[in-house]
Amino acid sequence: MRKLLSAMTALAFGAGLLAAPAIAQDKGTIGIAMPTKSSARWISDGNSMVEQFEAAGYSADLQYAEDDIPNQLAQIENMITKEVDALVIAAIDGTTLSNALANAAALGIPVIAYDRLIRDSPDVNYYATFDNFKVGVQQANSLVQGLEERYPDAEAWNVELFGGSPDDNNAYFFYDGAMSVLQPLIDDGKINIVSGQMGMDTVGTLRWDGAVAQARMDNLLSAHYTDTQLHGVLSPYDGLSIGILSSLKGVGYGSGDQQMPIVTGQDAEVPSVKSILAGEQYSTVFKDTRELARVTVGMVNALLEGGEPEINDTKTYDNGVKVVPSYLLEPVSVDASNWEEILIGSGYYTMDQIK
Ligand code: BGC
Repeated sequence: MRKLLSAMTALAFGAGLLAAPAIAQDKGTIGIAMPTKSSARWISDGNSMVEQFEAAGYSADLQYAEDDIPNQLAQIENMITKEVDALVIAAIDGTTLSNALANAAALGIPVIAYDRLIRDSPDVNYYATFDNFKVGVQQANSLVQGLEERYPDAEAWNVELFGGSPDDNNAYFFYDGAMSVLQPLIDDGKINIVSGQMGMDTVGTLRWDGAVAQARMDNLLSAHYTDTQLHGVLSPYDGLSIGILSSLKGVGYGSGDQQMPIVTGQDAEVPSVKSILAGEQYSTVFKDTRELARVTVGMVNALLEGGEPEINDTKTYDNGVKVVPSYLLEPVSVDASNWEEILIGSGYYTMDQIK
């Protein structure tokens, strides 16, 4: 009898009818779709979520799509087919997921938009992100602070603008936040956009690609700055800043008596923190991905256990179909004056990683 029972149990396990005896509590599986491993921040996001979901008793199915839209869609469809208990998605293109999410909704799978809003779908339950408008404000304030410090005597500062990927809703918030600070200075003649290139249609950088930004900076320099000095560049993301800085160095900025223009950034990625310490990139914006993971895990847990997810914004994020209830975290501007306190002091990096 014992033998028969154990044979039946083995069969049941084999057929997936019984779950393996849970050592820890097993509250279900969460599908996590992240955009790419090419930027360290998304790796931190993924790792923090897996760690925190597991600590809360869930299993995590974490997938990266290397910035390939069909690949991400296939990963999400696959998670839906496997009937994960909830989906957490940082979309590559925020407008291409509507059909997949309708299928998720039909199966009762809740969806959290992670960091990036998912647009054109009623099937997004909550949005966990940072105050994206404020990120842009901080970038522009830091740009202006740097311009004042480095070029106190300039009558007007010559500046160029870069935007993020036009298929990422955040890119518009960053740009609009930055322009809320810069536009009045442009109107007053204190900032000159020498190329005249403005607006997300013109300054956006598809897929947040550093090589694309570098090529555009090369073109701007050769078309407009052969005998004009560039003082500053609004860059919305560290990966773009690195490309922009290479282009600037290529024409001699940062050596001899050619001062490096003020270049901003976002995400406090290690190469950019090193660049700030080397006096190249001026600043970045730190977004604590551990905190974003914490908020997201809390939302999922509340949804699956019948509670109310914590939100602090019900107005800002209209995805074209509905206003998605959101939790916005605070971004922090980081430069040479405070990097140690913010990035090492918080335990986000160890000193060994930076120096
Ligand atoms: C994120 C930024 C990031 C950018 C590029 C945006 O959606 O909010 O933190 O710099 O994507 O990965």
